[in-house]
Amino acid sequence: MLSAHVTRAPTPLSRLSALGVDTTLAELQRLVPQGQGWRACEVDNLGHDPGRRPAALVRPAALVQAWLQEAARLSAMETMWQAQVHALARHGSLWQALDTDGLHLAEAPVVVVASAFGSLALLVEHSALTGPASLPLRPVKGQMSLAALRSEPLAARPQRNQGVYVPLYEDTGLPPHWPARLWATGSTYERGRHDVAVSAVAHDSNAASLNAMCPPAARQLREAMADGTLLGWAQVRCASLDRLPLVGAAPDCEALRSLMEPPRRMRMPLAATPRLTGLHLLTALGSRGITLAHWCATRLAASLDGEPARQDEADLLAAIDPARFAWKHARRRPPAAARA
Ligand SMILES: Cc1cc2nc3c(=O)[nH]c(=O)nc-3n(C[C@H](O)[C@H](O)[C@H](O)COP(=O)(O)OP(=O)(O)OC[C@H]3O[C@@H](n4cnc5c(N)ncnc54)[C@H](O)[C@@H]3O)c2cc1C
Repeated sequence: MLSAHVTRAPTPLSRLSALGVDTTLAELQRLVPQGQGWRACEVDNLGHDPGRRPAALVRPAALVQAWLQEAARLSAMETMWQAQVHALARHGSLWQALDTDGLHLAEAPVVVVASAFGSLALLVEHSALTGPASLPLRPVKGQMSLAALRSEPLAARPQRNQGVYVPLYEDTGLPPHWPARLWATGSTYERGRHDVAVSAVAHDSNAASLNAMCPPAARQLREAMADGTLLGWAQVRCASLDRLPLVGAAPDCEALRSLMEPPRRMRMPLAATPRLTGLHLLTALGSRGITLAHWCATRLAASLDGEPARQDEADLLAAIDPARFAWKHARRRPPAAARA
């Protein structure tokens, strides 16, 4: 679901999500016919911030395919699919992407690591480019439950409380093995898990959340589970410590440590943090990747092109700067025993 995160007073996340909804919706309208990958709708918020809000139901693959086709038309992209990057290494002014045998997959002066929770293994464990405290990413597994809709929808529009219930989604562009008319609900929120197995326990948890929103729909879920027609989709969200994305140039933690040696309290603007030239991040989109990805990517691309940030967005860009954790970590004085 593409929807804004509404709060009583604006927060960085509510502002980011409002901007993200607008730009993503504009991209959908520009590139994907409605009904073939997305549909505008409204959602009834039942619990937190109650009320009816505009939203859209999106099949992310439809938008990604449209972007890929546009890039292909403009000859603006080369792709290499199914290639796991094990580590990144600096070679002169270039970054090299290496596979598990240390063989070179690709190289470029500018790299954007956009591999969600995989960014942690890539940058911390395999490349030692930063420490875990400077890149505090957490996996949060989620599972959605869905099935073909063979009757009338059980609610007039989507409902949201502890999770979202979509009584009807119709899409003529779905791959043949998916029902063209379906209902869906979810998603579970399992912190610390990074497997993608679909489980009956997670379906049960979705049924319990659904029961609080629309009891007949919970019965529909349990019937589909019993007759073997219930489908599931599970994946891993990537969340940061402060639940905001990490977008921008990667901090140079070695250089930062030298600046802070001996440990002292110094004030330096975030923007003055030493950076690893050419290495950028776009990760930790949490539960809101559909909403945030496009806005974050356009701002990162603009900064790579040397465009100055808009004044009214400067604080948002600082809020998602990947160096914010490196600074906090470097500022912290080590315990007395460690200092001795
Ligand atoms: C059940 C569920 C429901 C959700 N519902 C919503 C929703 O309603 N609305 C919403 O906005 N968001 C939702 N989200 C969140 C959304 O899916 C994510 O925020 C979004 O997918 C993040 O996009 P991403 O490109 O950063 O990461 P991903 O989509 O996770 O893509 C990262 C990619 O990097 C690849 N990768 C990782 N490591 C490497 C490596 N070393 N080398 C090469 N490739 C690598 C992975 O294979 C993957 O393809 C949901 C998530 C889940 C799990």
